[in-house]
Amino acid sequence: MNQAEMTAELGRILSPERVLSGPAHDRAYDCDAYTVDRSRPQVVVLPESTAEAAAVVAWCHRHAVPFTPRGAGTGLSGGSLAALGGVVISTKRMTKILSVDVENRRLRAQAGAVNLRLSQAVAAHGLHFAPDPSSQSVSTLGGNIAENSGGPHTLKYGVTVQHVSGLTLVGFDGRVIELQEGPGLDLLSLVVGSEGTLGLVTEAEVRLTPNPEHVVTLLASFAQVRSATETVAAIIQAGVIPAALEMMDHGIMEAVRAAFGLRFPAEARALLLIECDGSPDRVGPEVETVARICRDHACLELAEAADSAERARLWTARKKGVGALGRIAPTLVTHDGVIPRSKLPDMLDAVDRIGAEFGLKVANIFHAGDGNLHPIFCFDDREPGVVDRVVAAGEKIMRLCIEWGGSVTGEHGIGVEKLDLISLMFDEDDLALQRRAQSIFHNDSGVNPCKIIPNQKGCVEHMKRWRGVAT
Ligand SMILES: Cc1cc2nc3c(=O)[nH]c(=O)nc-3n(C[C@H](O)[C@H](O)[C@H](O)COP(=O)(O)OP(=O)(O)OC[C@H]3O[C@@H](n4cnc5c(N)ncnc54)[C@H](O)[C@@H]3O)c2cc1C
Repeated sequence: MNQAEMTAELGRILSPERVLSGPAHDRAYDCDAYTVDRSRPQVVVLPESTAEAAAVVAWCHRHAVPFTPRGAGTGLSGGSLAALGGVVISTKRMTKILSVDVENRRLRAQAGAVNLRLSQAVAAHGLHFAPDPSSQSVSTLGGNIAENSGGPHTLKYGVTVQHVSGLTLVGFDGRVIELQEGPGLDLLSLVVGSEGTLGLVTEAEVRLTPNPEHVVTLLASFAQVRSATETVAAIIQAGVIPAALEMMDHGIMEAVRAAFGLRFPAEARALLLIECDGSPDRVGPEVETVARICRDHACLELAEAADSAERARLWTARKKGVGALGRIAPTLVTHDGVIPRSKLPDMLDAVDRIGAEFGLKVANIFHAGDGNLHPIFCFDDREPGVVDRVVAAGEKIMRLCIEWGGSVTGEHGIGVEKLDLISLMFDEDDLALQRRAQSIFHNDSGVNPCKIIPNQKGCVEHMKRWRGVAT
């Protein structure tokens, strides 16, 4: 079916102004925040309810047209790119908060609701939605669920799966499935983190977390990157689990200073943003332990946020830090790997070495407490051959993560980016089991194709094509 026919048919299911096609929309929806892989959808649709989304999915199934769910498009592994074309189902018009149950600390919202809005909606009740990806001012509940997103406060509060108690899923053929926590096989947790490959989430019920009674936020600066990474391991080893333990290195610090006025000593090469929260009698001793460990590791300066405004400024600098890198280079690729915390010092040395080997500028801003690395390559994708070098350098870092007992992703998902690398972690039997788990929901190759599970029909061509285009 050609684009004009699809647009007309889907326009009859929704309304014509909520069916987008043409060159401008092709460009706007041809990638997510992993911008070096692109593929154009034929049509983008904007349903407003579960019923409308289900009608679109049923239409896709009847006509064997692939569909790809999309939230805000902030994903960093190409998850919402329409690898085989077809229909992108955007949740941009599904932003309603449907109910708030303060007594039982639950909130129900449509999948396109922006993460931060959930917390804003219940702030007056002293509650918040704990998963806080740095993209939280833009990214959606549906995207967070699909990626099982983490964030700075994951260290203490856990990732998205721990905070979802129910969801509504539109399955491969348009049937609506309600999943709720409870006895029996935990299909709810199977959907969380499945990157949109089991269907389209249209609504979810989430748990709300009480705001902490007392919070102390510290910014520690170090002259050596290694001293900062050793501090991270020592804090956890001492039995302290801060609410957040984030790191930035010299590759990003200047950009963050210029963008947000973050202050640190001139000789600093690494920063730790450390937050302790809870009751005052617990936080006090925790902060003392953290301060002692920082001093033992030759910390240059340990500054405490004086009030909530200063705390908010520190968190803005951290959470919008990647955006500040736009001052350094027009293209960024943010990698996502995990290693045991004890290996952080050696890993950051290795990341530096690998960057130099491939002639790439690399900056690090990451959830150090979780051992969740985010080396960011800063480059200009118009330079011939540079994307090849970025991909090769990224693969080298990911191989090291596996070799050192970690994983190729902590929170950004497999998407299309890591499709080649997943077989480094799982053998054919493991992958066959994952395919069988997927088949609980469908055996349809049209549900967000070419993501997570390698060697799907038609996807090899996509991989070849983009690598060809990208170079
Ligand atoms: C600056 C920046 C900082 C970031 N920081 C973090 C961080 O701290 N922690 C973290 O975990 N991630 C982070 N991310 C990655 C990204 O923001 C998260 O993965 C986020 O959850 C994606 O949400 P989204 O709405 O943008 O989803 P999209 O990018 O639109 O989609 C992501 C995936 O979810 C699927 N999907 C989207 N909506 C639905 C739905 N309704 N139903 C089914 N599947 C769906 C898509 O198909 C795709 O596979 C960051 C990204 C950026 C650009």
